[in-house]
Amino acid sequence: MDRLAQTPRVLAAHERSGLPASSVYWHFKNKDALLAEVLEHSYTQWRSAEDGWERSDDGDVRQRFRGRHELRRYADGLERCIGCALCAAACPADAIYVEAGENTDAQRYSPGERFAKTYEINMLRCIFCGYCEDACPTDAIVLTDVYELSAGTRRDLIYTKDMLILPAPTGKPGTPQKVEEGKYNRPILPEGLVSEP
Ligand code: SF4
Ligand code: SF4
Repeated sequence: MDRLAQTPRVLAAHERSGLPASSVYWHFKNKDALLAEVLEHSYTQWRSAEDGWERSDDGDVRQRFRGRHELRRYADGLERCIGCALCAAACPADAIYVEAGENTDAQRYSPGERFAKTYEINMLRCIFCGYCEDACPTDAIVLTDVYELSAGTRRDLIYTKDMLILPAPTGKPGTPQKVEEGKYNRPILPEGLVSEP
């Protein structure tokens, strides 16, 4: 009632007629028009409030928050993902699709035999449980604190490898790379060979 009495239309009618705000409902065509006026007024008030809601730009989300995924690389630009599909196996929502390809030293994407030729996450299925992150033996797939995930079509919410993978560190080549023969024949790098990005 208070909110309604403050709406411009009711106030105008109140001023014109001198009637109490409670008596001017007849200025509205029907209940929907009345409700629309109240909602619009409340929304305008909320938007203009001094301490209205604003998106936080300082990354200030809860530490445990799990948002958009990213696929990480090593400091030398090689991809951490080895296409093992353990993340897909662990995913309770069946949201991940991985297809492995074979590495060679002339065309190397990741250490070891295989890399992810195709890597997709269906964000419409994902429940952000983080099991994929826990299952990954190379810390390749990580959930970040990015929460703005809207898209215009369902197709745009199937995130491909190109959308998920981080760029190579500055000054380092991307993938595939031509590398020294036999240097990367293990899927997990010996400690000290390549540091964290
Ligand atoms: S966060 Fe959970 S539901 Fe989402 S892709 Fe990873 S395992 Fe699947
Ligand atoms: S993200 Fe990790 S668990 Fe998933 S395929 Fe790549 S290496 Fe395997």
